[in-house]
This record gives sequence, structure tokens and C-alpha cells, in this order.
Amino acid sequence: MNAEVNCCPICSHEAVLICKKSGRFDAREYSYFHCNSCHFSFIGNPRTDYEVLYSEDYYKGLGADPMIDYMYELDYPDLTIRNYAWQSFCVIFNDLLPNGGALA
Ligand SMILES: [Zn+2]
Repeated sequence: MNAEVNCCPICSHEAVLICKKSGRFDAREYSYFHCNSCHFSFIGNPRTDYEVLYSEDYYKGLGADPMIDYMYELDYPDLTIRNYAWQSFCVIFNDLLPNGGALA
């Protein structure tokens, strides 16, 4: 676990403590900081126990982010929002290509 910081990780200026708030996933109290120099906001004491955060449950939608369910996405790739995201990326890429992506 990191100690609380009050130094902006972007510009190294002193950051101001905005508030402290407990997470929904755990009862741990998080400290929110804001840098008045570059306007970056950040959590000063983020969790770094990645092996716990990204356990098998996380990939099933049972972790810190209930919107994540990679196991469902693997089972039903055509029914996930990622399918729509990739379709949009293809439209954007084709628009950026010369001749709309058509072969000359
Ligand atoms: Zn800054």
C-alpha cells in the first residue's frame, strides 16, 4: 500500500487534498488530490494489490468493476458492446484512409 502523497505525479507541484472517501468495493478510505498547477486530479493512496484486484472473479464481473465481464464477452462476442466499438473504429479508420478505404 502506498503512503499518501501530496505531490502531483504529472508536474511535481504540491497537490491539495480534496476529500477522503471510502470505496464501494472495500471499506478502505481513499484520498483524492487535485493539482492547481496542471489541474490533474488523482487518488493519492490507490490500491496496488493487483493480484487481489484482478483475481479470477474480476474477469467474471464479480470484482471491483461490476461492468467488466470478460468471460461473458468471450462466450458471446457478438452480443457485447465491444462489437459495436470495433464497428465504430472500422468506420473511423475507413474514413481516414484515402478514397474511404476503397482500392483505387
Ligand atoms: Zn500537476
